[in-house]
Amino acid sequence: MGLYLRPQTLEEALAALAADATEPSADPLDRLTVLAGATDFYSASTGRQAWFQRTPANVLDITGLSELLGIAPDGYGFRIGALTTWSDLIAAPLPRAFDALKRAARQVGGQQVQNRGTLAGNLCNASPAADGVPPLLALDAVVEVTSAARIPSRLPLSAFILGNRRTALAPGELLTAIRVPSPMPDERSVFLKLGARSYLVISIASVAANLALDPRGRIVRARIAVGACSAVPQRLAALEERLVGERPEAAQRAMEPAMLAALSPIDDIRASAAYRLDAALTLVRRALDHLAEQRSAAA
Ligand SMILES: Cc1cc2nc3c(=O)[nH]c(=O)nc-3n(C[C@H](O)[C@H](O)[C@H](O)COP(=O)(O)OP(=O)(O)OC[C@H]3O[C@@H](n4cnc5c(N)ncnc54)[C@H](O)[C@@H]3O)c2cc1C
Repeated sequence: MGLYLRPQTLEEALAALAADATEPSADPLDRLTVLAGATDFYSASTGRQAWFQRTPANVLDITGLSELLGIAPDGYGFRIGALTTWSDLIAAPLPRAFDALKRAARQVGGQQVQNRGTLAGNLCNASPAADGVPPLLALDAVVEVTSAARIPSRLPLSAFILGNRRTALAPGELLTAIRVPSPMPDERSVFLKLGARSYLVISIASVAANLALDPRGRIVRARIAVGACSAVPQRLAALEERLVGERPEAAQRAMEPAMLAALSPIDDIRASAAYRLDAALTLVRRALDHLAEQRSAAA
C-alpha cells in the first residue's frame, strides 16, 4: 500500500511535492502523483493493471486545496483555478469568447465525468485528443505553475504541452491556474468535435475557432486550433493571418488544405491520417460558417 496524502493548504501540498522531488527515486511510478478529479488517473491505472503493469504507488490528492477553486476576473482577464471542473465552467457566467470552451466542456464524457474532471487535469494529462486544449489555445491561455518557492511562473499553453502525454511540469511543481487574457469586445467562438458517435467519445478531430470583429463587422483577430491531428493540438497561423480584414461570411472560402500544414495526424484504431486531415478541413470550414451565421442572426 502506497502513500495517500490529502493536504488542506497549497503550502502543505507544495512542501510534500518538494520533499518528493528531492527523493533519489529511480522509478517515476514511485514519485508522488497528483490527483485532481482522478478521471484520467484511474482510467490509466485500470489499463495498466489489465496488462499486469505497476501503477503509481503514491498519491497527492489536491481536492482539499480551496486556493485552487473558482473562476474569477482579474486585471489580466480570467483566472481559472486548477480545481475548476467542466461543470463549474459550464455554470460560470463568461463572455461569448468562452463559448467554444463551454461547448467542449459539455462534450467531455458524461455528466459524472464533467462533475469530477478538471480543466487542469485535461491539460496535464496532455492527450493529443484532449478537448480542452484547442479552445484554450484559441483563447491564448497561459498556465500558472507553482513550486514550494511560491513564485508562480507563467507559460503559454502552447509551450506547456510538449508532446503526447508530456508537459513542461518539473518534479515539485503543480499547475495552480489557467489564465485567459481579456477577450476583445465583439469576440465569439465555437468548438466542433468529430467522434465515432455524438457523445462519450474520444475526438477523431476537433476545432476551436475564436473570431473578433471590429465595429464594421470585419475580422480583427482570428485564432483557430485543431485537436487530435498532431501530438499536440496546433493553431493554424496561416489561416489566422489570412482572415484578418475579411468579413465572417467570406471566412469559409479562405480556408485551403495547405493551411493544415502544421498538422501531422496518425493512422490509428479510430481513423486514418488522411481521414483526420479531411475531417479537420471540413470542421474548420463548418466552424467558420457557424460563426458567420451567428453574426448574421445577431445583425
Ligand atoms: C468515461 C470518460 C470519458 C471521457 N471523455 C473525455 C472527452 O470526451 N474529452 C476529453 O478531453 N477527455 C475525456 N476524458 C478524460 C478526462 O475526464 C479529462 O481529461 C479530465 O479533464 C481530467 O481531469 P481530472 O481532474 O480527472 O484529472 P486527473 O485524472 O486527476 O489527472 C490527470 C493527470 O493530470 C495530473 N494533474 C491533474 N491536476 C494537476 C495539477 N493541478 N497539477 C499538476 N498535475 C496535475 C495528474 O497527475 C494526472 O497525470 C474522459 C474520461 C472518462 C473516464
